[in-house]
Amino acid sequence: MRTAYMQAQYRKQLQGAELRPIWMYQSQLAGKNRRREHIALHGKAYRYDDPFWDTCYPPNGWGCQCYVTTKSEAGAERDGIKESWRFHYGSLAGN
Ligand SMILES: [Zn+2]
Repeated sequence: MRTAYMQAQYRKQLQGAELRPIWMYQSQLAGKNRRREHIALHGKAYRYDDPFWDTCYPPNGWGCQCYVTTKSEAGAERDGIKESWRFHYGSLAGN
């Protein structure tokens, strides 16, 4: 289920994907609606066109307050998350 707000958010992030192609899952780490499976995804970064987002773009279920932040490739590199998305993307490309 995707709320109107998150749908708009998704479209906006998709439009900005050329400049900020690295998307990062942010989970709610505290509060009554937090979910262990979502916390496990916290901080995972994938490219915007990764199939991960087809199934995991939040909200993922009732009361889910997870969200997605975006980064440029340089920003992702600065934050030290370059490896995780690049590895994943490389494996998809299949060389
Ligand atoms: Zn969630």
